[in-house]
Amino acid sequence: MCRYPLGMTSGQIQDEDISASSQWSESTAARFGRLDFDTGDGDGAWCPDIMSEPGGFKEYLQVDLRSLHFITLVGTQGRHADGMGNEFAQRYRIKYSRDGSSWVGWHDRMGNQVIEGNKNTYDVVLKDLEPPIVARFVRFMPVIDPSLIVCMRVELYGCEWLDGLVSYSIPDGHQMIYRGLDVFFNDSVYDGATAQRLTKGLGQLTDGTWGLDDFLHSHVPGAWPGYDYVGWSNKTFPKGYVEVVFDFDHIHNFTSMKVHCSNMFSRGVRLFRQATCFFRSESEWEPDPMTFRPSAEPLSQSARFVTVPLGDRTASSIKCRFHFGDQWLLFSEVAFQSGSAVYNTSLGPHKHGQPKKTPLGDDPTHKVDDSNTRILIGCLVAIIAILLTIIVIILWRQVWQKMLEKASRRWLDDELTARLAVQTQAFSFLRFSQSSEDGSGSGSISTYERIYPASADYQEPSRLIRKLPEFAECAEHLARASLPESGTSSRAGVGSDGAPHYAEADIISLQESSDSGSITAVNMNLFAGLDSTLREFPREKLTFKEKLGEGQFGEVHLCEAEDMQNFLGEDTLMEGSSKSPLLVAVKMLREDANKNARNDFLKEIRIMSRLRDPNIVRLLAVCVDTDPLCMITEYMENGDLNQFLCSLRLKTLTGGEADQQEGSNEVSSVKLLGMAMQIASGMKYLSSLNFVHRDLATRNCLVGKNDTIKIADFGMSRNLYRGDYFRIQGRAVLPIRWMSWESILLGKFTMASDVWAFGVTLWEILTLCKEQPYSQLSDEQVIENTGEFFRNQGKQVYLPQPQCCPDRIYGDLMLSCWRRNAKERPSFQEIHAQLTESR
Ligand code: AMP
Repeated sequence: MCRYPLGMTSGQIQDEDISASSQWSESTAARFGRLDFDTGDGDGAWCPDIMSEPGGFKEYLQVDLRSLHFITLVGTQGRHADGMGNEFAQRYRIKYSRDGSSWVGWHDRMGNQVIEGNKNTYDVVLKDLEPPIVARFVRFMPVIDPSLIVCMRVELYGCEWLDGLVSYSIPDGHQMIYRGLDVFFNDSVYDGATAQRLTKGLGQLTDGTWGLDDFLHSHVPGAWPGYDYVGWSNKTFPKGYVEVVFDFDHIHNFTSMKVHCSNMFSRGVRLFRQATCFFRSESEWEPDPMTFRPSAEPLSQSARFVTVPLGDRTASSIKCRFHFGDQWLLFSEVAFQSGSAVYNTSLGPHKHGQPKKTPLGDDPTHKVDDSNTRILIGCLVAIIAILLTIIVIILWRQVWQKMLEKASRRWLDDELTARLAVQTQAFSFLRFSQSSEDGSGSGSISTYERIYPASADYQEPSRLIRKLPEFAECAEHLARASLPESGTSSRAGVGSDGAPHYAEADIISLQESSDSGSITAVNMNLFAGLDSTLREFPREKLTFKEKLGEGQFGEVHLCEAEDMQNFLGEDTLMEGSSKSPLLVAVKMLREDANKNARNDFLKEIRIMSRLRDPNIVRLLAVCVDTDPLCMITEYMENGDLNQFLCSLRLKTLTGGEADQQEGSNEVSSVKLLGMAMQIASGMKYLSSLNFVHRDLATRNCLVGKNDTIKIADFGMSRNLYRGDYFRIQGRAVLPIRWMSWESILLGKFTMASDVWAFGVTLWEILTLCKEQPYSQLSDEQVIENTGEFFRNQGKQVYLPQPQCCPDRIYGDLMLSCWRRNAKERPSFQEIHAQLTESR
């Protein structure tokens, strides 16, 4: 009966009562670890930061129930996030505590601690706790495989432990030899200290399992003879009694105590002859005990409850002396009735059931009826709640769909108006990128101001999108919903000199509020989120060799790093490490960087510090103690992939597909696909960690020796969980030619939008970066084309098949990356497999 959900799903358990050892991101904090019988999208879960403690087995999700509860069942669930997530705990342990300071690891009756958890991301797996536990605090501790991300949603089931018994203290149980058979009467599930006497714990006497008449047998499968009973032989008790002390959470007014005893007198076991109970409310035992003698000698050998009246005495501890009626005394359960509550165990002496607590009087029928009513009401309320939630979700989806359709229609109208306006020079909403000297802005018809100094790859689409009131409204609404602390209005203003690169846009600093503090605070916090092997490198040991390039953050220098290999330690052997000093690339934040850029630079460091993959550029060390902030990465001899490919020619078929000659500037399509495969491999790794790169392009990949390709530029990447979808809101400039339609229009960045960008990157590779994607389209037309993807009326324009691109790669892979429905796009795992096969 005691199997009520305790409030993780319903929200009865407050957010502040759910905590965790660590969290992977703000959106996977402990408070999201609520089991959900799938009324939602399966998103939101607690995910520990497995990288904060490699191989960490100490990660936990803790629930504080605020008072003692009898917990009989637990439920766990993973995270599927509408098919995007793949995280669950295959195995876990449970720890619990009654006082919040001493913790006990739960184990089953056979001593196993590990519980088999989830096998997929959506099913709820329920586990009966046998034995049940009495606790206020419960911790779920996933058994972590370092290569997998674990996420959990949980629920606890049981009822409140109104009994108030927090521990009992007994002498250790004895062993009987019955006709050559070893019979053990120890308290095998006792959770307190077990030296000499058992103290400060609860165990079999409160586990809700009552012994059978024949103590040699048990309900518990595989249990040894005597399992259900705790028992003592009178030989070791010269005073003729066994003393048991019961401690309670506070003072109760006790009516009676029920003791379930064996009465197998044919084997020397009998009910106790007399029970003398002492009471204590303060420090001293009161001098006048209650004494009770069972009336008549029972003739039957059945096990039974004996009720010991306690005379409405008040106490916070009770000490009872049970006098032997024969050679052996065997108890299987003890329960108390007090003025405030009844611990009802009167459902039948041989029933193996859960105890239940009802705040009622003494009529057992009434208690059962009332419990049934409560269950019924609980079920009805739950059903109504589920139905309401489903209705709300359906309505919300319909409204959202309608808004998008309306927005799209409105957008078409706006576009028409805009076109007319251009022709009549009345294009008032446009911001002209090449403003005329006098500031009239009439020198250009480009809608998007090009701010990013080094590249035309980044534009500012938000202006056109903001022309769509419904879109703007929706996006703002969603952004507010997903970014509760954003405070966008106060931060939306950017210098009048133009929009920042999107990696600097204000919205980013709003994504993680911890990053929006002062730089000192950020620096102080920095190492908290870093891989522990990443350390501050003494900057005086860096010797400048040459400038490698310049990016959004500042210059990148080739440097010699003295003693770097020793600094990194033996487990981080770098290629060419025998040479000392080691050549490294040092990316420096420019001196005049604003706060957002500094925060993003630090964020890139934090993200990169967690990544280890052969196709991801490795961050070796940092210099963040003083300005300028620097990140030291491995040196990639051939620079970025865009420039690298630009300088090559396609090897003609007559030349064969053989390996390139040394020094040749020709490259075969096989080699190009090999490069794409390496990028897919790096992205596969990122997606396994739920990281969304958000700026995948050839310009952000680097080329090392032997055409090794590694993904770099993590300034924009984020780990993807609920609330992390990046909504375009500020005046960010974005790489619109690489972005999926939903990223541009809805500001939604997912692994599937990275797949879209991969399709464009693959196209760049196979065209040897000779032209920009959609080079024949203006920026406005690219946005317009995005609208066509959204409208899906067959008018959208795809990038054409590159000359050297095999039909299969174009038809089956490249085009599939640009499918309108994000769920229909392939995963990086599939892309990688396909490219591996095609080589
Ligand atoms: P970024 O600021 O990361 O965009 O880098 C700017 C440029 O510096 C790139 O386009 C590369 O040409 C060069 N660069 C950056 N990192 C490295 C590196 N690890 N090895 C070699 N060149 C690099």
